[in-house]
Amino acid sequence: MYDPLIANTIPRDHEQGIDTYWTSHTQLPECRVSKLPEHAEFVVIGAGYTGLNAALALAQQGREVVLLDAGGIGAGCSSRNAGFMLPGSGRLSFSDYHKAFGFETAAGVQQEFASSIAHVEELVQSSQFPCDLISSRYLRLAHNQKMAKQLENQQALYEHTALDAEWFSNAEIARQIPGISWNYGGLQVTPARAVNPRALVGVYLDQVIRAGVRCIPHHPVIDWQRCGDGHRLATPAASIKAQHVLVCTNGYLAKAPFPDISARHMPVLSSILVTRPLTQHEQAAQGLRVNDMMMDTRTLKYYYRLLPDGRLLFGGRGAVTGANAADQRHQQRLEAALKATFPGLQNLATDYYWSGWISVALDAMPRVFSPTPGVYTSMGYCGAGVAFASLAGKRLAQLAMGETLPPLPFYQSPLPRFPLPRLRRMALRAFYALQRG
Ligand SMILES: Cc1cc2nc3c(=O)[nH]c(=O)nc-3n(C[C@H](O)[C@H](O)[C@H](O)COP(=O)(O)OP(=O)(O)OC[C@H]3O[C@@H](n4cnc5c(N)ncnc54)[C@H](O)[C@@H]3O)c2cc1C
Repeated sequence: MYDPLIANTIPRDHEQGIDTYWTSHTQLPECRVSKLPEHAEFVVIGAGYTGLNAALALAQQGREVVLLDAGGIGAGCSSRNAGFMLPGSGRLSFSDYHKAFGFETAAGVQQEFASSIAHVEELVQSSQFPCDLISSRYLRLAHNQKMAKQLENQQALYEHTALDAEWFSNAEIARQIPGISWNYGGLQVTPARAVNPRALVGVYLDQVIRAGVRCIPHHPVIDWQRCGDGHRLATPAASIKAQHVLVCTNGYLAKAPFPDISARHMPVLSSILVTRPLTQHEQAAQGLRVNDMMMDTRTLKYYYRLLPDGRLLFGGRGAVTGANAADQRHQQRLEAALKATFPGLQNLATDYYWSGWISVALDAMPRVFSPTPGVYTSMGYCGAGVAFASLAGKRLAQLAMGETLPPLPFYQSPLPRFPLPRLRRMALRAFYALQRG
């Protein structure tokens, strides 16, 4: 698999040969491929949730936009994730924001996260493209007593914010989800939604096409140069001049052509398996319901949900390198974790297994920022970007059009650089070894 920490440039159609449950169940709207023009006012690089939303917001303001992707539309995480549409992003909890920035800012952050779900819903409602969006609850399940205490204490903090939280004791969780082996209680956070993530790409693509964006898939940007007061972007086929460049590549950004941006995050593999469909009896015995999205509190988390066709989706950390992404060991580790979590499900065949690159920020907080004049980026979602990357794409477009963003921490500073970027992979290996993951 393509590896952004090894490759200087992203290969064309890097996603080919990666068969996911979503790609085999979802066809995107027809996209009439444009020829690369010689210049454009705005060039958006990367056609995932961030890039599609940025392109849409620009086009809706009458701007001329070209949207490029190295692969097909939605070639990255946006077609590969678990479809948990959560009111959050990064890895900071409400109490982390509260401690670092005070209650008012933390509540503003929660409001923005709630708005990200409303933003997606608005786009889904104005598109004819179906995406299995269902109202859901996000259940953080404590994996030990210490985390149970922390989660329970968080409940009170959510009062007077845009989100609701309810603590369930271990007895209540055992009643609701009897199949779970370890159980110390859980915190339910709403609003949240579950979605078919690739179909959500379809929703955005449908709108982007109607808004007049020129979509140009299969064109990796392999070089960026300043050129007068603009920029020249090279692809293997041709190059394009742009007044403004929006880098929406998240975890898929190779070492070049934006080395300064690349050094500000860590691409990390996250993996998912999807089982055969469970029988009605198996679902009922475990207490699995399609509108529950569950995640534990381990540092290396496991997350799971029942899909509308009765299959169980189960995700967690992947391999360290792209070369090892498809290694059986990692699939087996996830299968073992599934069996340990649901001891009653020992005989579930895995029908699909795949991985994708998420973007991890040094301080666990995503950012929308301009690293250098005329270049804008949004990344560092740390594996939680279905809702927020969508709103962040719109915020990024607003920033590129000279608008002022809400005064929230992730809009007010750039992503911090990793101190020794070359050692990121070694650090990840050591971290996994410490966690015995
Ligand atoms: C296994 C897995 C499970 C996940 N589950 C969830 C979940 O349940 N909930 C949640 O909120 N988040 C989840 N995420 C994270 C979420 O999918 C991402 O945060 C989100 O999709 C990021 O969208 P994006 O548009 O920024 O990036 P991506 O969708 O990754 O898109 C980046 C695009 O940039 C393109 N690109 C890169 N470099 C170039 C270049 N030089 N030239 C041209 N194109 C380029 C790539 O081809 C790619 O299409 C998960 C991620 C993974 C991998």
